[in-house]
Amino acid sequence: MGIMRGLRAAKGATATAAGAEPVHASPQQLLALMSEYEESRLGWFWETDAEGRVIYLSRQVADVFGKSAETLSRTQFQSLFLTDPGADGASPRNISLLFGGRKTFTDLIVRAAVGDQEIYWSLSGRPKLDEKGEFLGYRGHGGDITETQKTENETSRLAQFDSLTGLSNRHRMQQKIDSTLTAFRNAKRCCAVMMIDLDRFKQANDTFGHRAGDELLKQVAQRMKRAFDMTCEVGRIGGDEFQVMLPDIDDRGRLGDLAKKVIALISQPYLLDEGRAAIGASVGVAIAPYDGLTREEVVHSADVALYAAKNGGRGQFRFYSSDLQSESHLRKALEADLRDALDKGELYLEYQPMVSVKDNRIVGLEALLRWYHPERGKIAPAIFIPIAEEGNLIAPIGEWVIRQAAQDAARWPDHVRVSVNLSEHQIIQEGFTLLVANALTNAGIPPERLEFEFKESVHFGSGEVTEREIKALRKLGVRLALDDFGTGVSSLGYLRQAPFETIKIDPSFLKGSMEKNSRNPDLIRAIVALAGGLNMETVMEGVEAMDELRMVTDCGVGLIQGFVYSQPMTVDEVDEFLTAQGWVIAPNGPAHQRSERRKVYRKVNVIHEDHFYSVVLRDLSKTGAMIEGLVDVPLGTEFVVDFGEGQLAVAKVKRSENDQQGLEFETALVDDGAGGLCTRNRISPYALAAAGMPLAMLPPGHYPLAQKAENQQALSMPRFGHSNVKAKLAGYG
Ligand code: C2E
Ligand code: CA
Ligand code: CA
Repeated sequence: MGIMRGLRAAKGATATAAGAEPVHASPQQLLALMSEYEESRLGWFWETDAEGRVIYLSRQVADVFGKSAETLSRTQFQSLFLTDPGADGASPRNISLLFGGRKTFTDLIVRAAVGDQEIYWSLSGRPKLDEKGEFLGYRGHGGDITETQKTENETSRLAQFDSLTGLSNRHRMQQKIDSTLTAFRNAKRCCAVMMIDLDRFKQANDTFGHRAGDELLKQVAQRMKRAFDMTCEVGRIGGDEFQVMLPDIDDRGRLGDLAKKVIALISQPYLLDEGRAAIGASVGVAIAPYDGLTREEVVHSADVALYAAKNGGRGQFRFYSSDLQSESHLRKALEADLRDALDKGELYLEYQPMVSVKDNRIVGLEALLRWYHPERGKIAPAIFIPIAEEGNLIAPIGEWVIRQAAQDAARWPDHVRVSVNLSEHQIIQEGFTLLVANALTNAGIPPERLEFEFKESVHFGSGEVTEREIKALRKLGVRLALDDFGTGVSSLGYLRQAPFETIKIDPSFLKGSMEKNSRNPDLIRAIVALAGGLNMETVMEGVEAMDELRMVTDCGVGLIQGFVYSQPMTVDEVDEFLTAQGWVIAPNGPAHQRSERRKVYRKVNVIHEDHFYSVVLRDLSKTGAMIEGLVDVPLGTEFVVDFGEGQLAVAKVKRSENDQQGLEFETALVDDGAGGLCTRNRISPYALAAAGMPLAMLPPGHYPLAQKAENQQALSMPRFGHSNVKAKLAGYG
């Protein structure tokens, strides 16, 4: 840059002016040239003494700092420049290094702050030596490169950030995660990575157009920033895929809360110029070093967790666990099998009655799809329906359900309806209404005997096609029901404009509804009142106990669907029992709502001193567990319960009877996002290895340090005897 070229040019000009011969300039001429060059502001000169103090500086540089050349003289040359590394990493430490090494340097970029402006210079310099080789200081030149540097910084900023949302882009996220994990690995610190994927974004984009889609993404980014108001890095790494890096967080209680918060924020409706849009989000969480050590491993784990969250029904979060890996293989296998299931006759329907509470008469039956897999047995619809939806199999399967249900209903009395669940993928099919009309004609039943159940998400924020098909279905005369009301995004007010005959209230309203201060009965009453005012019927789903039945009846609910009346039954059972009973069923169930405790039967290890005992876990809640299998365990004994995958919970024996002990956890368990519980923290593989824990305790995973722990310590005598549950244990997986 600058001076050599400048001087050469200037020299050339003089040479030409003086004739063809090269001329040796006199000292006066050189001085004149130098000051002309300085005046031109193309560049400037500097010189220091052996201690690095300024002994010459062009006036223009002093001007920039608003000082006279005299005041700057004798100050340390490097003190003129900023010490923090700028966006480009330029720092005067380089100068001291270079000075120290007495090296020649060219085009070193330095920054200076003048007021609130930043100036960039390119510096070159050469050590001055006397004839004995003694160092005298430096001499060199500089030039202003502020403009080019700013453009360059802007370009690299663009290369780091997503231009639409301003969040970090994929490239920057990769860099950040890489550098953080590398640094944290030595410091034995942890770091969580969250993958967030929007649900139904594609539909919103298709419905409202790309401009609205972009606006939606911007608003999502805003909410994302609001949800993650701590030290972290939030990025958009693809169309509707986001990623967050959270350093030093491994508390799964906190991470679960964060995931719930971001899902809730993103699921709020969006106001766009083109209309109101509703989307959701699924979240996968993985934590280094537990779920991987490198960026590739941790991000892969978070992806696996995200995939599981999406398949779990969307709007959910999952923590990575090695089970998920096998789950995703299982899904692929199931999808392949499901392709032939219809042809092979493995699919069939069961029917569950909806009963009028005032006279126990059956008003309708809901068709529930079943899959009997030749090797795996019965597979739950909650598992295979999402697989069918993802694999574009729901349209043909759904069509079969409609035709079959209409045919079965044809054999029932005229006043009994049949309800069929619809996925949103079905209704946007070309000619869906025609297909329905055809099924009705074939079966010979009137349209008002068929009711379609939609989840809220199907209608709310839906596109033109859906609206048009819903209108066409209504015109055809079939009934429409809103399924799972209360779980989604819609408010009570939304019901006013919704085209439904029936509302099915989600069973979640029954949870805890029998406790004293529960507000759920009031909510149910409000829904029923509003629905009644709008001429809609209400169905309470999932009623199991007699006290629940009484409560919902008191709230004015007209129809009940739940085990208290009947489990889903095969079409033969419907023919056999319901026909014989005259299509009336008496309620019958346990007197009281069962408590919220989750019944579990699985093997776990408990550790006492340095012994492992295999026991059966009978009951698990956030605060405690019931184990079975050990005898002679005194109250107050401390155990460590090993739930696997580094999940260790310290617990104290609070009750002990024969071979059963009630344990209380020192730290309460937290929600795992999948309806289960997990420990808040896990024992880091580093810590386990350092503590010389036996390898057997380590679940499969990445444990680079574990090998060290292989030399087990000497064991003392086991303190407790096993009861005769070995046989029992064999029964539980
Ligand atoms: P859903 O539409 O909410 O169906 C009600 C679910 O609650 C059924 O589960 C039913 O067996 C269960 N249930 C009914 N009463 C009780 C009770 O008292 N206690 C408890 N604990 N559960 C009760 P199922 O059969 O496993 O179906 C799950 C979901 O699969 C359905 O939820 C529905 O969303 C979907 N599904 C089922 N069949 C079809 C279908 O043909 N097409 C589509 N698209 N989805 C279907
Ligand atoms: Ca349903
Ligand atoms: Ca439902």
